Amino acid sequence: MFQAFLIKYGEIAIKGKNRHLFEDALVRQIRNALKAVEGEFKTYKTFGRIFVEGLSDFDSEEVIEALQKVFGIVGICPMRKVTEKNYDALKAEVLKYMDEVYPDKHRTFKVRCRRVDKGFPVDSMTMNCDLGDAILTAYPDFKVDVKNPEILLEVEVREEIYIYSDTIPGPGGMPVGVSGKAMLLLSGGIDSPVAGWMTAKRGVQVEAVYFHAPPYTSERAKQKVVDLAKKVAAYAGPIRLHVVNFTDIQLAIYEKCPHDELTIIMRRYMMRIAEHFAKADNAQALITGESIGQVASQTMYSLACTDDVCTMPVFRPLIAMDKIDIIEISEKIDTYETSILPFEDCCTIFVAKHPVTKPKVSVIRKSENRLNEVIDELMAKAIETTDILEVRADS
Ligand code: ATP
Ligand code: MG
Repeated sequence: MFQAFLIKYGEIAIKGKNRHLFEDALVRQIRNALKAVEGEFKTYKTFGRIFVEGLSDFDSEEVIEALQKVFGIVGICPMRKVTEKNYDALKAEVLKYMDEVYPDKHRTFKVRCRRVDKGFPVDSMTMNCDLGDAILTAYPDFKVDVKNPEILLEVEVREEIYIYSDTIPGPGGMPVGVSGKAMLLLSGGIDSPVAGWMTAKRGVQVEAVYFHAPPYTSERAKQKVVDLAKKVAAYAGPIRLHVVNFTDIQLAIYEKCPHDELTIIMRRYMMRIAEHFAKADNAQALITGESIGQVASQTMYSLACTDDVCTMPVFRPLIAMDKIDIIEISEKIDTYETSILPFEDCCTIFVAKHPVTKPKVSVIRKSENRLNEVIDELMAKAIETTDILEVRADS
């Protein structure tokens, strides 16, 4: 039914030099996304617009679904190609299009032609009137409304002639790759996949790190995190997932540090290790799924204690969001069902009954000193034994 797609993108902020970086990244991400769709496609930029053309048969629904996961796309217009480049063929195709796309004809419309190829014998104004008349004659239930039409039928005369009228919303945001790279602390919960998705939406390439504690946490808990990374990768592109064995560090903290400070201290070591891998891969920030006050380790005091060990900026896109709104996003991006699977994560096993809610940085630092004799070696070992997986949406 459709042969091509016009891609609408529209960050108002992109001007000058940044514009072509944005467009090139968008073309790259579209090509990536279409690799998973059956068929051959040509994606290209012309006159400041991006087109996807089918070079073989394809399923429009599949293409649209793939494009709806490409950040930077604001709208997707499915286009129909007029097989012959002449006025009669165009007229016939317009009538066929209006008939097929709009079975219910009790609607208002307007025709808007754009003649890019000035060699085409009929000018835009004439085409607007002519084609409008032809539609009214063939289907008298349609009505013209030039101010506020329900259907804006666009006709583009370029090398080929295309007809379109519908804009399907895209995800918005910026194409992944235009904003640098960040390391996501990805757990099996609801929040961190959403945090990763939100950051990727701003054009940031995402890597991830997961801390597990075998045998206290199971292989299934790890698989759950891999599955979540896959879901995020459907939007963010391939994710390098670092799986860190955190057991010995956790046991040492459990053995030597005050139990009401366990979570905070544990989180500080997670941040240190995440930052190590972030630096190694030239990432510029860390990302977590924290939100003020959600649990004891996410009070403002606790967040300050966590930040104390980081030299990189820590992005917390969910910081001011309510759980219900976070859940809404997780449902939309299809991570929710996986997130609520009931596998233990390493934090739930070593949690204290009454964790501190107003930890002081100076006190926490002092408690950590109790690990001095063992921690360097444990950290080195955790880093050395880390598994790195390349996670793709379709892997
Ligand atoms: P989430 O739903 O993301 O697990 P949460 O509400 O369960 O969040 P916490 O368990 O306190 O919150 O974790 C806060 C943040 O710390 C998480 O969003 C995540 O970024 C990071 N984090 C926690 N546990 C782990 C882990 N095992 N591996 C990697 N990151 C983790
Ligand atoms: Mg969690």
